[in-house]
Amino acid sequence: MKKGRYIIIAGGVISGVGKGFATASIGKILQQYGYTATAVKIDPYINFDAGTLRPTEHGEVWVTDDGGEIDQDLGSYERFLGIDIPKKNNITTGQIYKAIIDRERKGEYLGETVQFIPHIPNEIKRRIKEAGKGYDFVLVEIGGTVGDYENIPYLFACKSLEMEVGRKNIIYVLLTYLPIPYHIHEMKTKPTQQAIKQLSENGIFPDFILCRASRPLDRVRKKKIETYANIDAEHVISAPDIKMFDSIPLNFERENLGKKVLAKFGLKPKKEPDWSQWRELIKRAEHPVRNLKVAMIGKYVDIGDYNLADSYISINHALSHAGAAHSCSVDISWIDSKKIEDGEFQLNDLSSYDGVVIPGGFGVTGAEGKISAIKFARENNIPFLGLCFGLQCAVIEFARNVCGLEGANSSEVDPHTKHPVIDIIPTQKMLIEESRYGGTMRLGVYAAILKEGSKVLDLYIETKRIVTDRKKIKKLKKDQKFRLGKLMTYENVVLERHRHRYEVSPKHINPLERNGLVFCGYHQRLDGTKLMEFLELAEHPFFIATQAHPEFKSRLDSPAPLFYGFVKAMVEKS
Ligand code: GLN
Repeated sequence: MKKGRYIIIAGGVISGVGKGFATASIGKILQQYGYTATAVKIDPYINFDAGTLRPTEHGEVWVTDDGGEIDQDLGSYERFLGIDIPKKNNITTGQIYKAIIDRERKGEYLGETVQFIPHIPNEIKRRIKEAGKGYDFVLVEIGGTVGDYENIPYLFACKSLEMEVGRKNIIYVLLTYLPIPYHIHEMKTKPTQQAIKQLSENGIFPDFILCRASRPLDRVRKKKIETYANIDAEHVISAPDIKMFDSIPLNFERENLGKKVLAKFGLKPKKEPDWSQWRELIKRAEHPVRNLKVAMIGKYVDIGDYNLADSYISINHALSHAGAAHSCSVDISWIDSKKIEDGEFQLNDLSSYDGVVIPGGFGVTGAEGKISAIKFARENNIPFLGLCFGLQCAVIEFARNVCGLEGANSSEVDPHTKHPVIDIIPTQKMLIEESRYGGTMRLGVYAAILKEGSKVLDLYIETKRIVTDRKKIKKLKKDQKFRLGKLMTYENVVLERHRHRYEVSPKHINPLERNGLVFCGYHQRLDGTKLMEFLELAEHPFFIATQAHPEFKSRLDSPAPLFYGFVKAMVEKS
């Protein structure tokens, strides 16, 4: 087995300055030098996972292939590293304590006193090592900021890991922030010095400091950090604000971060990096030939005076990736669907947009606003992309306004609707009655078969996203057969991630189809029930929706098919 090498990334000064992107970027750089890398995110909260966290406060919940609902930083890792990262790579304090208490209850500690030290750090180390199996490097991002009480167990565990693997197999990276206060117009290094000091109180001396700031760091500041913190100025790396997240690895490489990191481990590059494709795509996105305007109609709850655009962060990335593929920039207007309902936003104003996206959503709030926006897009030939709840709203709209099923709705939004075109299917109902609510979510990757001759199939073929790797299918068949379901053919199979509870009600499929709605992809459960995964309208420039969340599988160098098609349709139409 490969020997583990660890890169610990901690944050100083403030949170939210891009530790996740920095972590993902270091991994990507190491891959470019011929090494394999994976990443682990540590979230020091007590929640078991991010499933029940409020997206308007914490940002989007990221979903893994294996059904984990985890922190969105894992999304940055996957997008940059191009690998599918499993849920075990997100460690929370809740999981650590639960695992230990469960073991204690089972009597596995045989009369021992179970204590903070050594049991907590040992469990943390066990999980980090497990996640890193088979990789040259494991990047470990510690959430929060050094100095937080809740970080202490993790820093302690890292020191303990250092004892185990040796100082030459572990490096520490501190990401800090250098403010430029408006009234003095000078970049200040003091908070960084204090963060270094705080980290050193845990026995950790950073090997690299990544300095986030609105501007690049000058020589004077680098020297100052060198003098005050005893860190070679060569290892003080500037990380200024950039237009596009994807250019962060290129920025780091301007300061030779990759070679410097390898040198710290006593390693040499295995190959010369080739950034040509990545650089070209960034160039296309930064110098677009076209500028597209997209209305994203969702649920945005303000946090005090601030509004978190992170709620749908993967969709923002997926649009930007698809834009790069077509040399377009995509400007997103986040429109609160409640404003459509209140008349604060006029539907006619949607005509000034190139396209409309309805993202995922839960609950009653804003559903009617979304449904009327879809009607407007359908009737006015505006490209429309519906994701998860977006598909459900499109079905409701079509049922009401084309099939004449007055009051049609999802039973989630109106439990008493006469026409529950979106509903809980019977086997899920049983689980709810047994109050196994969590178990009723469809989470993670599921297979779907696409319909011959459909626009959706064409897009999956064009972007090379039809699953041709039989090994992948066989592996799923062995490990998690329910994700494949009853696969009647190996042709036109696609795999996308899900996070939802409601489905297109099987008994409404035929009437909807008779009126012209094309269900062009389905998943067949092991019990034989067919679940509708994709829909499209033939006579519309682009009216496509999916029950899945294809945004989770979008990469700069491999855009998600439906986003790719959506941007293409917007270009062709305008
Ligand atoms: N609320 C819907 C459901 O549970 C859709 C969920 C979503 O959009 N992620 O089925």
